[in-house]
Amino acid sequence: MSATYIAATPDKATEKKSVYIETFGCQMNKSDSEHMLGLLDDIGYAQIDDIKQADLMILNTCAIRESAEDKVFSYLGAWKKIKDKRPGAMIAVGGCVAQDEGSNLLKRLPYVDVVFGTHNLHRLPDLVLKAKASAESICEVFQELPEDLPEIPVIRQSDISAWVSVIYGCDYNCTYCIVPFVRGREKSRSADVIVEEVQGLADGGYKEVTLLGQNVTAYGHDLEPKLHLGTLIERIGKIDQIKRIRFLTGHPRDLKVEDIDAVKHVESACEYFHLPIQSGDNRTLRRMARGYTVDFYKRVIEQIRERIPDAAITSDIIVGFPGETEQEFMNSINLIEELRFDAVNTAAYSPRPHTPASDWEGQLPEAEKFERLRFMNSVVTDVAHKINKNYVGKRAEILVEGRSDRHPERLMGRTRTNKIVNFDGDASMIGRLIDVEIVTANPWAMRGKL
Ligand code: SAM
Ligand code: SF4
Repeated sequence: MSATYIAATPDKATEKKSVYIETFGCQMNKSDSEHMLGLLDDIGYAQIDDIKQADLMILNTCAIRESAEDKVFSYLGAWKKIKDKRPGAMIAVGGCVAQDEGSNLLKRLPYVDVVFGTHNLHRLPDLVLKAKASAESICEVFQELPEDLPEIPVIRQSDISAWVSVIYGCDYNCTYCIVPFVRGREKSRSADVIVEEVQGLADGGYKEVTLLGQNVTAYGHDLEPKLHLGTLIERIGKIDQIKRIRFLTGHPRDLKVEDIDAVKHVESACEYFHLPIQSGDNRTLRRMARGYTVDFYKRVIEQIRERIPDAAITSDIIVGFPGETEQEFMNSINLIEELRFDAVNTAAYSPRPHTPASDWEGQLPEAEKFERLRFMNSVVTDVAHKINKNYVGKRAEILVEGRSDRHPERLMGRTRTNKIVNFDGDASMIGRLIDVEIVTANPWAMRGKL
């Protein structure tokens, strides 16, 4: 796949245009979408919620599992019909599928106007203007991030809680994972630039920041001088108006004792660790090339719990990895019960292009994978329910994020440990830290009382 660099002069459009954006996948993608909106604002595009009225439709895609990729094609099929009814409307496709497929996407879907990758987000306005002026489809995909990371404007979807990317890419090569292929090698942003961004957020009234990276715990190893995540947390902890600091996603091998100590000592750092283990079985971990054993992972959890006994710990686990035996699967089940995860993102293994495990013998039938997934989800739910019930009768500080999706008459917030709490309150509380008493708890959320 080659990168075609197309020069176009950005032109601040006088006429307001509208953009609709749909985002699949992880927080990294959601954060990228906010940057796309910031970039497009510079050329006169304002976000709208009604796709049928949009001058530009953007699909920010995810390639992590086959089902996510299939969804891209079914969405684009539907979008073509909208475009056909609205002459002049454009479709742009970005994110991980676009990075992987590049110009193949245009061959398959010639009605798409712009294809851009994960490494050249900053080029979106130029590409849109160029495609519009020439009435021709354009594909531009860079193989790597630019040497000097451009600072990209952003329009955030929340005015309380903000995502801040601190490291891009991933240097691991887990045998099931497409991420290194579509997101490239690790590249940290400078700490000064990050702290300046967070200070700007604090000045704008934001209360919470989540530091993002595919491997956020590797932050700073590539900087000169080297830094680690804990140092960054300590610096951000000095910004008074930011009441909560979170980080996602950690790798068990890279989480250092200094990082845990920073979470313990920095008041605004939340007692919440998301540390994917992927399997509770050593042979599977080795074949996944995760670089640690179950015992190593348990020691990391011990180090967290020794220092921060109330910390919430969540994880990711894949079931049905090629060749995973019934016993190896049960080792993952037993580990969930032993380590008492607050939540686990579970997934049935999905063979991905460019990854070694996709060609291996011993691929499990879909029905078997989904049966294992169903059983694991029931265990995760039971464990989460037991943990959440311990909150009942206790007080918790929550940051109120807005109205509850399912019961708009209620408000919704999160504890420092990232538990969702719904409660009756008035809209003036949105954006504030409030103490509530937890009155009931289910595996996914709690009810609180002021
Ligand atoms: N960097 C993180 C780590 O070390 O675990 C994970 C980031 S990855 C974008 C998010 C999750 O997607 C992984 O934790 C894994 O559970 C899941 N995932 C990745 N590749 C997958 C595949 N081929 N099939 C099923 N799930 C997959
Ligand atoms: Fe994928 Fe492994 Fe990198 Fe996580 S650490 S993004 S699972 S390659």
